Amino acid sequence: MIRIGHGYDVHRLVEGRKLILGGVDIPHDLGLLGHSDADVLLHALCDAMLGAAALGDIGKLFPDTDESFKDADSTVLLRKVNLLLGRHGYRVSNVDATVLAQAPKLSPYISRMRQNIANILGLDVSRVSVKATTEEGLGFTGEKLGIAAHAVCLIESAD
Ligand code: MG
Repeated sequence: MIRIGHGYDVHRLVEGRKLILGGVDIPHDLGLLGHSDADVLLHALCDAMLGAAALGDIGKLFPDTDESFKDADSTVLLRKVNLLLGRHGYRVSNVDATVLAQAPKLSPYISRMRQNIANILGLDVSRVSVKATTEEGLGFTGEKLGIAAHAVCLIESAD
């Protein structure tokens, strides 16, 4: 059985925070604000996976009222989501994600993001797609107020 899921997330760009996307620490003058490390790409991916399995969402699983998730490494959250899907008999077949950011230029980091996600999900990197685009200066990503990410994934029954 094959199921599809979609995830979307936004975090605000602020001074004095790291910019971590897809588990990669990216040099930039601004970083993403959040209770965890605010890795908007991995959060969208977690929600796509949880959505595919109809297992809720990342906010329900890792509430920002829980101090144990303060500054949490989102690669750990993604690993937990993948384990949860596994316990429900699912494995991820492939993922595709798009990061919406005006700056910085993300192309130098895309292959590391893909490899990080592939490693966590136990997938060949050919099953993991990460893309980046600007929104041509329009809206909150265009004005560099935040970064957004969309993700979709297919999951299949593990047996
Ligand atoms: Mg988030």
